[in-house]
Amino acid sequence: MSELPQAGGESGRDGFETRAIHAGAPHDPVTGAVVPAISLATTFAQSAVGEHRGYEYSRSGNPTRAALEACLADLEGAGHGMAFSSGLAAEHAILSLLGPGDHVIIPGDAYGGTFRLVDRVHQPMGVTYTSARLDSSGVGSDNLAGAWQPTTRMVWVETPSNPLLGVADIAALAEATHARGGILVVDNTFATPYLQQPLALGADIVVHSTTKYLGGHSDVVGGFAATNDHELAERLAFFQNAAGGVPSPFDCFLVLRGVKTLAVRMDRHCASAAAVAGMLEEHPAVSQVLYPGLPGHPGSRVAAHQMRKPGGMVSFVLAGGEPAALEVARSTRLWTLAESLGAVESLIEHPHRMTHASVAASPLAVDPGLLRLSVGLETVSDLIEDLTDALRRAG
Ligand SMILES: *Cc1c(COP(=O)(O)O)cnc(C)c1O
Repeated sequence: MSELPQAGGESGRDGFETRAIHAGAPHDPVTGAVVPAISLATTFAQSAVGEHRGYEYSRSGNPTRAALEACLADLEGAGHGMAFSSGLAAEHAILSLLGPGDHVIIPGDAYGGTFRLVDRVHQPMGVTYTSARLDSSGVGSDNLAGAWQPTTRMVWVETPSNPLLGVADIAALAEATHARGGILVVDNTFATPYLQQPLALGADIVVHSTTKYLGGHSDVVGGFAATNDHELAERLAFFQNAAGGVPSPFDCFLVLRGVKTLAVRMDRHCASAAAVAGMLEEHPAVSQVLYPGLPGHPGSRVAAHQMRKPGGMVSFVLAGGEPAALEVARSTRLWTLAESLGAVESLIEHPHRMTHASVAASPLAVDPGLLRLSVGLETVSDLIEDLTDALRRAG
């Protein structure tokens, strides 16, 4: 197995935007190319048996992937980073740290795919789980204490969560988890390392679907996991190579390209999301707006403390329930009705029937009147006008 990827040490002192552009991607020493090559080679010449330049076989290690891993690890303040072929492949690697008899606590409003992976793949292999609400300060750690079992090894949290945008207090959960001898995993997909740094707040592992904001352009599926714990890193890197769920060099290139503009994109996503949330709050057809930047949101205080800004996702409940929600979802012109999130184009979706259909019959089911918005980078007045038109039609 090749060496664990390391974060670019020197660059750790630079600002976030600088590191997003320079970390892990030094100019090509031979040609001076300012972007990393897409290294398609599957195998690498050895000068003598076992003597090579760090690469042997592309599943075990690839130069384009190494550049991506070094960049993202640096942005998360992690010593070690592993890229995967999807967010769920990264999650699968992390959950595979658990064995038969081990117990994991997952959030009550987990991403549907995370719930399905735990419930339908890892539970049949002997892992047990409890779902608990881990958001809202204080309440989260109390619920964690209540869900804890003697066999609990891991706590999994998403913050902000999907689709309810609940905010979990990462530092409080890390403390409560460590006091009981477990490890805390944070899915940082909604926040990105620009808005939130889970490892610095005490989490043991941070995981991403790079399909979302990190890629940022709806053109690549990928995942990433990072940690500062050497032993966990070795086990994750072993799994990455042994199970083989690695991203292609082209996919790695696309995520690296996306990350260079992450900070400027996130600033605009956040500003436009705040404006959209403000409009929805005033709208008579809307009974509830879920956005961590609103003062009335139960997680606003924790969000203000642990996030740079409250993010680009907004969810809301229609006063007219599911029929109104379905009508709005099909009537927008600029907001594309589609799953996924975090890219340049604005998306609208109906979690109950779309992203969260797999949990519809479980305790994690979401309100059928709920719509989720991924606020994109279009002119914000256009977005607001289009959504207002759709709300009028549904009202
Ligand atoms: C999309 C998503 C995932 C899964 O990632 P894929 O790249 O689709 O496999 C996990 N967690 C969150 C919060 C997501 O939004």
